[in-house]
Amino acid sequence: MTSESTAGSTDQYTFQNPVTRFESITPAAEHTAEPGLESDLEPRADRGETSYRGTGRLKGRKALITGADSGIGAAVAIAYAREGADVAMSYLPEEEEDAQTVKELIEAEGRTAVCIPGDLKDAGYCVSLVQQAVDGLGGLDILVNNAGKQVAVESLEELTDEQLDHTFKTNIYSFFRVTREALKHLQPGSAIINSTSIQAYEPSPTLVDYASTKAAINNFTKGLGQQLAPKGIRVNAVAPGPIWTPLQPSGGQPAEALPEFGKATPLGRAGQPTELAPAYVFLASSEASYVIGETLNVNGGMPSP
Ligand code: NAD
Ligand code: MG
Repeated sequence: MTSESTAGSTDQYTFQNPVTRFESITPAAEHTAEPGLESDLEPRADRGETSYRGTGRLKGRKALITGADSGIGAAVAIAYAREGADVAMSYLPEEEEDAQTVKELIEAEGRTAVCIPGDLKDAGYCVSLVQQAVDGLGGLDILVNNAGKQVAVESLEELTDEQLDHTFKTNIYSFFRVTREALKHLQPGSAIINSTSIQAYEPSPTLVDYASTKAAINNFTKGLGQQLAPKGIRVNAVAPGPIWTPLQPSGGQPAEALPEFGKATPLGRAGQPTELAPAYVFLASSEASYVIGETLNVNGGMPSP
């Protein structure tokens, strides 16, 4: 099956009003268990399953995506496969069901999907993940550091050492470790893309640990971008605004904030994961050959530096 046949009659190229492209959702003020599962997400999110249309922009590329089982990572995995790439997927073992759904969508495009469950807090997994991806794909030329942990806490006094450690190990240590290992394999022309956040510059008072890691990711992107540019490897970031993914109802937001999620953006609604995919495709593709150290904001219109 080709992406032309997989996509429905409306795709990301269809002329449409961004205000009404997706409905404004009002999720229930209830928490689900962590890590959030796509299969529990209500209302369901749009990862582009029936709408993303590929045009061969990543033909023959080999991509490793962390957090590829759900949310933004799943939307990127689906888009990359439809653009012609093979994809290795990192995710937590308890997310196997979500990962299998994405694997089937990748394989429906005739592309290879390699499933590599594990915990990115574990330095050993960060190394073995890259090795397994290279073995399974026969090389590597795109790395998307996208996994993230976000748990809202009312006050700094309530922030446990355990959460502080887990947030930093997942959101920033793993970016250093996985990227360092990947550099053994990335050739000139390769691209690294990091998922940061609007939280890097507009931290919520309940997300001081998470937001700090996102500011670190922006800085890491700009510094490493300069370090690797002479080698022909481009490093960039994508900074999503409020996107409806399993991260949010599983503790990412205080429960009482969920019904209003995304409504304060100029577009007046939360974003859907598939709206992020074109940014990750652009930064991975050779179209972006002169784009380095950039953070591409995809946030419904919130001003960013
Ligand atoms: P998501 O829950 O669907 O994806 C996050 C993924 O991170 C999980 O699926 C999981 O596989 C992975 N992960 C978390 N801890 C891990 C660990 N210890 N080991 C291995 N994998 C682990 O949520 P999402 O919103 O799609 O998040 C993707 C990225 O986007 C994150 O970096 C997040 O910070 C960022 N982001 C999201 C939003 C938003 O509004 N949803 C906004 C800005 C930035
Ligand atoms: Mg998940």
